Amino acid sequence: MVHHATVRRAMAVAGVVPSGLRCGLMFDDLLQANSTYSEAFTLRGIPPVAAREFALVTCMDSRIEPLTMLGLLPGDAKILRNAGGRVTPDVLRSLVLATRFLGVREIAVMQHTNCALAMQDDDEVRGRLAADGVEGIDGWEFLAMPDPDRALADDVALLRACDQLPDGVQIEGWRYDVESGLIDRVIASSH
Ligand SMILES: [Zn+2]
Repeated sequence: MVHHATVRRAMAVAGVVPSGLRCGLMFDDLLQANSTYSEAFTLRGIPPVAAREFALVTCMDSRIEPLTMLGLLPGDAKILRNAGGRVTPDVLRSLVLATRFLGVREIAVMQHTNCALAMQDDDEVRGRLAADGVEGIDGWEFLAMPDPDRALADDVALLRACDQLPDGVQIEGWRYDVESGLIDRVIASSH
């Protein structure tokens, strides 16, 4: 028997089912999958420090699979994700904790090609949201990236200038190509 989640995913990919109609049973499917997962759970006892001393800041884009693409395993790295893979105050908060308490010594900011936040500015994002009926966003920063190279350089510079990170932490800026799976090392660390 083919699982109905698989069928629904295939129909969604084929454009048969509008995404808005698929949400009702998704939670059930996910928790059912988790129940199966827990029956063969193998990650008990992994320490909370990052075994490979690495943290990745990247986009929430569903085409990005951070561990597999870098040859990492669960327990190896801290993964911080948000829209665009931007360095925000919350990313700084998390990285100060990750470096001070959880073993992180190397950080990569990995943005990507074809990002939904690229090639536009915040005014355009707010305009699209307003057109969709969203109100009360005048003061919101969406951190859109009209110039992706500039955005990546700014984010790496912001991290390198963060006095609360320990001395010696290495920081790089990468761009992931969603078509090839390859990472471009746009800004290398100094070592
Ligand atoms: Zn993105």
